[in-house]
Amino acid sequence: MSAIDKSKPVGVVGAGAMGRGIVQVFAQSGFDVLVHDANEAAIDSAIATIEKLLERSVSKERITAVEKDAALKRITPVNELSAFKPVQLFVEAASERPDIKKSIFKGVDDLLADDAIRASNTSSISITELAAVTKNPTLFIGMHFFNPVPVMKLVEIVMGLETSDATYDKVHALAEAVGKTPLRANDHPGFVSNRILMPMINEAILCLQDGVATPEAIDGIMQLGMAHPMGPLRLADLIGLDVCYDILNVLHRDLGEDKYSPAPLLRKMVLAGRLGNKTKRGFYEYE
Ligand code: NAD
Repeated sequence: MSAIDKSKPVGVVGAGAMGRGIVQVFAQSGFDVLVHDANEAAIDSAIATIEKLLERSVSKERITAVEKDAALKRITPVNELSAFKPVQLFVEAASERPDIKKSIFKGVDDLLADDAIRASNTSSISITELAAVTKNPTLFIGMHFFNPVPVMKLVEIVMGLETSDATYDKVHALAEAVGKTPLRANDHPGFVSNRILMPMINEAILCLQDGVATPEAIDGIMQLGMAHPMGPLRLADLIGLDVCYDILNVLHRDLGEDKYSPAPLLRKMVLAGRLGNKTKRGFYEYE
């Protein structure tokens, strides 16, 4: 197992719902973190969210005020991708679009150290396909965190066709160093998590579309009957309905079965801009 080196920073691109959580857990675990987003407002909002969450942890006496300040000090927003040169691990958490992700990896590949690990937090895009745009795919891996990152224990580590065991060992150790439990999967559409979760969410949306029950009843049935901590519609709102739609489209295209085809109601909600928690309206309304 690889030793952890905290002298070199970690880089994160994409400061949305996931990126900000990834930044927070690395900073809280003693890593310096560089963060970039194409949208400057996303960085400001990320830092404000992290500060608020750390403040809440202080008030609940989970961390001290000194630890909060130290974690915030370790986070550096950067405007230029060239700032990522010294990182040991580069994590991409930008929007779920292959073209966006590929252009980010192409943009940093020559800048990063020859042994720096390139990781994507993608939910469904092929790790092998993303790795192919980099010069050394043995260093490329899926590092799939779960939402909300500071709370959820799992990191699904996804091996591309060329990912080396040495890269896996290092990422496994890094995931443990930030308090997570890594579990290994191979590159296949949806990996394990979304291959199982997304058809369930889609089916819940089809139940709503068919008038089988209200959102509250659908979620309540899955919570009380199946012991799920959160119902599928509320979970879809939390994940982001656009993200769910993108993942289902990947499953549908790459596994080639109609059962993965996104529910028409999901498509309509995305077209209407009702994306869940992030737009304050999805299957439910949020303050
Ligand atoms: P999001 O929409 O909240 O954030 C995406 C961020 O990427 C935005 O701030 C956007 O400005 C930024 N971005 C877009 N293009 C960029 C570029 N070229 N350079 C830099 N920044 C760019 O999305 P999210 O929910 O945080 O998802 C991010 C990734 O994490 C996706 O691949 C998604 O599939 C994956 N993921 C999401 C969840 C979830 O529950 N939302 C869970 C696991 C994994």
